[in-house]
Amino acid sequence: MTSYQDQARQTSSGTVLDRVRGRAPTTPANVRRLAAFANVHSCPTAAVAFAARIDTNKVLTGTSMEMPYGQSPFAIGRGVAFEALLRRHGHAELRRVLTEGLGTDFSLAAIENLREGYQPNRAGLTMRARVTSSRMAEIAQAPQDPVVLDGAVLRADIGGIPGFFEADEMAIGVDGQIIVGENKSWPVVDGRPTDEDALGSALDQAATYALMGRRTLEHEGVDPACMSESVVLVTPRNTGLAPALHRQDVSARIRRIERLLGAVPDVQETAESTPPSVTFDAVADIGRSENARIDAFNQVTDELGRVYEPANCLTSCGFAWACRQRLFAEGDPAVVGGSVARALPGIAGLRRVAELGQGAPPSTAEEPAAVPLARAGRLYDEMAAVPHIMRRRSA
Ligand code: SF4
Repeated sequence: MTSYQDQARQTSSGTVLDRVRGRAPTTPANVRRLAAFANVHSCPTAAVAFAARIDTNKVLTGTSMEMPYGQSPFAIGRGVAFEALLRRHGHAELRRVLTEGLGTDFSLAAIENLREGYQPNRAGLTMRARVTSSRMAEIAQAPQDPVVLDGAVLRADIGGIPGFFEADEMAIGVDGQIIVGENKSWPVVDGRPTDEDALGSALDQAATYALMGRRTLEHEGVDPACMSESVVLVTPRNTGLAPALHRQDVSARIRRIERLLGAVPDVQETAESTPPSVTFDAVADIGRSENARIDAFNQVTDELGRVYEPANCLTSCGFAWACRQRLFAEGDPAVVGGSVARALPGIAGLRRVAELGQGAPPSTAEEPAAVPLARAGRLYDEMAAVPHIMRRRSA
């Protein structure tokens, strides 16, 4: 295909995605969003929203289906204070914590702050990505004193969408190795994080940067093995703000994220396969009634399709409450997850599940699931008949 044809194809997919987006709020590419999408990438509605860069957390703002995403003002304030502490007095606290945690003297390390001196727009990000890329190659090829790139920017194409991804300390250069660093303001008390989910998502973010770092080095013609597969998290120790460093191996997470990103659908193909009637415009229209907006949402998701998995959807997609309500209203067993729905072949809906659980005679199509359902129903009835206090004693 010629570059002219490529360009024409990109323009037409851009037009389709503009139409799909309508007045829905957009979100820039960032690692947190990428990690969230990776959890729900098999859902067609989520794929189209991702391709159109729609902010699923904000489309339903003002309706009862808006999910309570975002950090509390307290958490944001704590995060700002923690970052400021690390950078105060020429990054004195960051130097101390890196020296103690990595066993290398960072007191005279060159700390290059890429947040300053660049325009806050795409041109600025492009420049920062170029500087990051060439500095990383220098660290890998001519290891000298330790180096820290504060506010490094990595460029990556995800599903054909080029994006810039801004890290915290990434990258820390020690002895020719480049280590990803992330600052998090939630505390680690007595060596344990207070929020295991937050730890998991921080490690996923760091692993994503490590993967992008490997690709950046490859692009520079440098051995990607110079990118360390263990990352550092800098968090407050106990309840104060005094920083502490934790080093973690994320090699398994890097492999997992590589597989997930490889499965992200191509944006142009997504745009080309999106039916012309699909648009989030009415869903995001705050001038409409709530019912009209929810109806518009149901129409879009009915047309595109859903792959609802409660654990993934509720943590990673801003449409989860709306999808859950739709499935519940339809009595669709998928409301409790795909594995349960797959275990109920031939059964029309949740009402019929309840009837079979109470011993209703099954049709031929329902027979495979009817026996375990009837058994589960009997077990439930037996347990319900045991007084609550006895159940607690035997537990
Ligand atoms: S919440 Fe709905 S739209 Fe989002 S991933 Fe799940 S099923 Fe898809």
